[in-house]
Amino acid sequence: MDLRSYYPYWLLDKSIPAIYPSLLQNITADVTIIGAGISGAIAAWYLRNSSEKVLVVDRRHAGMGSTAASTGLLQYEIDTPLARLQTLVGISNANKSYILCSQAITELTKICRRFPASEFEMRPSLQYASSLRDAGCLRKEFELRKKIGIDLELLDEREIKSRFGFSKSAGLLSKNAAEVNAFGLTHSLLQYCSGKNAEVYDHTGIKGIRRVKKQFELFTANGVRIKTRKIIIACGYESKKYLPRKFDQLHTTYAVVTEPVAREALWYNKAVIWETSSPYLYIRTTRDNRILVGGKDDDFSGSFKRDKAMPRKAKMLAHSFSKLFPHIPFIIDYNWAGAFGSTKDGLPYIGELAGKPNIYFALGFGGNGILFSVIAGQIIRDLIYEKKNEHADIFNFSR
Ligand SMILES: Cc1cc2nc3c(=O)[nH]c(=O)nc-3n(C[C@H](O)[C@H](O)[C@H](O)COP(=O)(O)OP(=O)(O)OC[C@H]3O[C@@H](n4cnc5c(N)ncnc54)[C@H](O)[C@@H]3O)c2cc1C
Repeated sequence: MDLRSYYPYWLLDKSIPAIYPSLLQNITADVTIIGAGISGAIAAWYLRNSSEKVLVVDRRHAGMGSTAASTGLLQYEIDTPLARLQTLVGISNANKSYILCSQAITELTKICRRFPASEFEMRPSLQYASSLRDAGCLRKEFELRKKIGIDLELLDEREIKSRFGFSKSAGLLSKNAAEVNAFGLTHSLLQYCSGKNAEVYDHTGIKGIRRVKKQFELFTANGVRIKTRKIIIACGYESKKYLPRKFDQLHTTYAVVTEPVAREALWYNKAVIWETSSPYLYIRTTRDNRILVGGKDDDFSGSFKRDKAMPRKAKMLAHSFSKLFPHIPFIIDYNWAGAFGSTKDGLPYIGELAGKPNIYFALGFGGNGILFSVIAGQIIRDLIYEKKNEHADIFNFSR
């Protein structure tokens, strides 16, 4: 499956930081992680202090799936508004999901502090009302989020204008948000873990899995066998073949990055910005003051249509940005597109399938994919160590 089109900014900016050998000999491990994207790297991170031998294998170079395409906005706000999520999964699980995403930002803050290549920065997050009708929904969201302890402000038109320079009838400004270079972070985590209890092999695709008593045998495309006690499936949108049915819907999302602009031209605290409409426009900046704009999603994920649509979508993204910020020069330097999965409730699928013990899924489908990878890493660590995790049921396959 082609996960991406064109070249994401992160790849061209710094190229691939590390490559790993491919697996050429039969090997035995305690835990094998299939997929060396951000989900696999974070899963390895949470197992780094154990005495277990961990293998991470990927059929591409590490991070070269969806992770390389990620625009790296970190927001506790799930694509499904809290009010709607409460009706879908119940008040308690919806509230916990929002709180867990907020805590995952705090957790990533601590992790990323060690890794400069993660380019992690805390930023405020503005969600503006795309229409007058949505302003009412934002007011309701404000009350619900406040009630669960989220630190945010409800901005009116005048306050949005004074901080951001454009006019929208209402907006929610949250303190706890951030931006990251997911590709850089993935490589940093894998390099760190390979200095501990993990071995990383790229260009090592898994072709088959066979359960043998209480163990597994994995077969690679090169004909090598891995014996392992436990498996973590972190294959992103290519995990389908390990699942009994479809759990996500694939779309395409598009992104562009401009040439650097003057810092003074940018808005309030370089906040990350998104909106209430669906699909939504999303905006962030980079360390060198480039502007990244994404959105204009399509309901298909095929690479042929995606490649063809890219030039038109880049123009549309530029146009939408310039409507908000007409005074900021918008000269596109990079553009790309990628497959993007969503679930019926906006939550990820994490854990084991009924009747299939010791195979753990880390499927962070949705706009919060990176934060979902953190939650998945924590839950799977606990499941592997047979420790109770009180949140595991929220994201299980039988919900
Ligand atoms: C354009 C775009 C923008 C996005 N923006 C954001 C954002 O702002 N914030 C956010 O949180 N999320 C965002 N996402 C989503 C986020 O990027 C994903 O949730 C995340 O990258 C998924 O990581 P992953 O490790 O699960 O999957 P991947 O990065 O795809 O990694 C899976 C890996 O598994 C490997 N693999 C698959 N099958 C096999 C096999 N059989 N054997 C061996 N290896 C295998 C693949 O080669 C791949 O490297 C965005 C996605 C896109 C496309």
